[in-house]
Amino acid sequence: MIVILLGPPGAGKGTQAERIIDHHKLTHVSTGDILRSSVKKGTELGNKAKEFMDKGELVSDDIIIGIVEERLKEPDCKSGALLDGFPRTVVQARSLDKVLEKMGRSIKAVIYIDVDEEEIISRLTGRRICRECGASYHLNFNPPQVRNVCDQCGGGLYQREDDSFETVKQRINVYQEQTEPLINYYEKNNLLEKVEGNQDIDEVFKEIKKILEN
Ligand code: ADP
Ligand code: ADP
Ligand code: ZN
Repeated sequence: MIVILLGPPGAGKGTQAERIIDHHKLTHVSTGDILRSSVKKGTELGNKAKEFMDKGELVSDDIIIGIVEERLKEPDCKSGALLDGFPRTVVQARSLDKVLEKMGRSIKAVIYIDVDEEEIISRLTGRRICRECGASYHLNFNPPQVRNVCDQCGGGLYQREDDSFETVKQRINVYQEQTEPLINYYEKNNLLEKVEGNQDIDEVFKEIKKILEN
């Protein structure tokens, strides 16, 4: 089963993904995490992607589609995958449909987490990420038990360079222009499940659980 998490940057996709995979047999596939790990390793892909990520722009469709296609073929994605941060353009969504058709698989649901802009900005500017496992925290809304230490793996927390106010603004623009059209795309395919994202993490998760249990 393939499930997609859709929503603006800061909607809570990564946060919810951590909870969903504890309850369902899905492998978390985050294109942002894959790219950040390539940047950290300094691979050719990472160096190319970094330029776009730092500016708050999207990495090219060709590169991303290739990454996801390869990732979905790996054994841990056989029982299911939870896509987070992909697709982000209509071109990516169409390619995903083709790739899944070739594999004889299909999308079960697209969970759209709707959050307003003011909330996105305060979420992203206060976000902290685990350097080791990528887990997402917030200084005020979701602090770790020990300051600057990941609850899950003990790794150190850092602030992503693209979570600065200016880059967040740019990412919101990019989202509105390139990713928002996917809401319509998946509505037409009868796959869209909208969730109210302006509520507590636990409340959002309850809504998502209901959708996935259906
Ligand atoms: P995304 O993956 O959609 O970019 P994250 O899951 O990283 O978003 O969440 C962005 C920030 O907002 C993080 O700091 C996270 O701790 C916080 N956050 C996530 N969900 C909520 C929520 N429902 N209420 C308040 N803060 C949240
Ligand atoms: P967030 O959910 O906080 O916006 P992500 O971690 O999903 O951030 O993505 C960080 C950056 O990685 C994006 O701003 C973009 O540059 C790049 N990226 C991630 N996923 C994709 C994608 N599917 N297509 C193009 N670029 C992507
Ligand atoms: Zn961690």
